[in-house]
Amino acid sequence: MLRWPNKSWRNVVDARLLDILVCPLCKGPLEYDKKAQELTCRPDRLAYPIRDGIPIMWADQARKIEAV
Ligand SMILES: [Zn+2]
Repeated sequence: MLRWPNKSWRNVVDARLLDILVCPLCKGPLEYDKKAQELTCRPDRLAYPIRDGIPIMWADQARKIEAV
C-alpha cells in the first residue's frame, strides 16, 4: 500500500501533470492553471477541468476560452 496523502498528491499534480498530460486534440503541451484548477490548451482555446485532483481530458468536458 502506498501512502498518498492529499497534500502530496497536490504537489505531484503541480510538478508532474504537465510532463504527463498533453492535449487530446492537438497533442500539444498544456498549461496548468492553479487558481482555476484547469489545464489549458492555447492553440485549441480549451480548458480541461481538474476535479478532485483528476484531470478530465475529454474535449466535450472542456471549457472554451474566450480569445484574448
Ligand atoms: Zn490542443
